[in-house]
Amino acid sequence: MTEMRRVTAIRNGTVVDHIPSGYAMQVIRILGIDADRATPVSLVMNVPSDKIGRKDVLKIEDRELDQEDLDRLALIAPAASIAIIRNHAVAEKMKVELGDGLVNIARCSFSNCITKNNREPLPQRMRVVSRDPLEVRCYYCGRDQEIDELIGNII
Ligand SMILES: [Zn+2]
Repeated sequence: MTEMRRVTAIRNGTVVDHIPSGYAMQVIRILGIDADRATPVSLVMNVPSDKIGRKDVLKIEDRELDQEDLDRLALIAPAASIAIIRNHAVAEKMKVELGDGLVNIARCSFSNCITKNNREPLPQRMRVVSRDPLEVRCYYCGRDQEIDELIGNII
């Protein structure tokens, strides 16, 4: 219960719970919150969690995450749980679910991939080969992506 009190003290916005410990800053980056300095964000790090050992929790004020945000989040925090807060109460709960493919979520890490050819713009497509451990392969060049690198290439 202490945990819940710690994370629900916002009026409107989104609580992202069960982020793997140490990854909250990356979540902030892929959601574009670091660039948008108008969004108040609270960050709780290294909280003990029954589910994943230790976790980070983010409270993002006045922003509701959408499905596209969740698809990005799946790469970093596949076990995250999302609560949309309206007027201090949980209005909606969402789960991050990694689908079989990622379209226009991240760029292929290999420089000689056909997707790097700007004259022939192609959608960025990745196939999710395995979820645990996470393995993602480029649809075009067939190469397995280094997950940390892929996170750096999120569009
Ligand atoms: Zn590729």
